[in-house]
Amino acid sequence: MSEIRNELSLTRVINASGKMTILGGSKLSEAVTEAMCDGSQNFYVMSDLMMKSRQWIEMNYNVEAAWIVSSASSGIAQTVAAAIAQDNLDVILNPYAPNVTKRNIVIAKGHIVDYGTSIEVPIRMGGGTIIEAGFANACSKAHFESKITDDTAALLYVKSHHAVQKGMLELEEVVELGKKYKVPVIVDAAAESDLNLYLNKGADAVIYSGTKALEGPTSGVVVGKATFIDVLKLQGQGIGRVMKVGKESIFGLMAALLHFKKSQPATKAMQEAFMAPLLARMNALDGVRAVSVQDGAGRPIYRASIAFTHAKDAIQMTKALQENDPKIYTRDYRKNEGIIEVDLRDVSETELEEIAQAIETLYGGLKK
Ligand SMILES: *Cc1c(COP(=O)(O)O)cnc(C)c1O
Repeated sequence: MSEIRNELSLTRVINASGKMTILGGSKLSEAVTEAMCDGSQNFYVMSDLMMKSRQWIEMNYNVEAAWIVSSASSGIAQTVAAAIAQDNLDVILNPYAPNVTKRNIVIAKGHIVDYGTSIEVPIRMGGGTIIEAGFANACSKAHFESKITDDTAALLYVKSHHAVQKGMLELEEVVELGKKYKVPVIVDAAAESDLNLYLNKGADAVIYSGTKALEGPTSGVVVGKATFIDVLKLQGQGIGRVMKVGKESIFGLMAALLHFKKSQPATKAMQEAFMAPLLARMNALDGVRAVSVQDGAGRPIYRASIAFTHAKDAIQMTKALQENDPKIYTRDYRKNEGIIEVDLRDVSETELEEIAQAIETLYGGLKK
């Protein structure tokens, strides 16, 4: 254990919640930390490193253009700023100048998500004025189109389990509107990993977090049309400078991308075989029902869903698990319905045992 970890006397955490920012995002592989060491212990001409990393991603991932940023949040802020400023240096340097009125960012109301902050924050940081389209539970193409005016700078689409899934228009429909009104379509796909998927559907820029599915360091990558990435790059002289990405993170993100490309994702059968002992032990408890469920946003991720007959047991259980030693963080978006989910991506076999043991022990002690 490092000197620092010792001095802070931090409790061990079992992450059964997924790639959560509150727990520090991802656990980095050896390959990633090695690359980060290499990146950090040398000097580089940064403009050269940025350009070559761009070309490397373009070649290896078959995308038209790419740009590494410090986080997905900074990717949102900078793509919005780029859509507004284009290559106008005066606007790049004065991102909130009142004489610039073409700064509306149209987004479905159901896409105004909270991921630790509201997505409205990076949009505003980029100089965007938020124009909500549709309602909390419905946004059609017509709703969206009715909000597009001469002051629209970009259309923003959020692909996330945080977003409302039902009743929302498809990305393809937003792309059609982008083409019709000649405004760029930006996609926030922070928690995803397929760099081609949304570009192939016609988006102008797609933002990924380096620290979620890609399992890299705190960083982000924006892929897009070359014309868009060229103006995004200019934000380095504007708000991008406030959120610059370090050389060690550039190296780390590239190693993560490489590692991700080489690794085979766990199949459904593999994930379910892994969780089987936990499901069996949970199903042996009175008033508890455990099954495998697929990720709500349709990603090929399967989690152990543990349902308690008394909904308040789930609420008390998540709290008790977090106060446990080690601290166990489950996925608790549905705890109000009596369900806690165990995300297995960062859980070892021993930790799975510890989770089962902790729930068994704590369950008996819950106040009925
Ligand atoms: C996590 C997340 C972000 C922010 O990603 P960071 O890399 O942590 O800045 C943005 N949008 C959505 C939908 C997210 O889930």
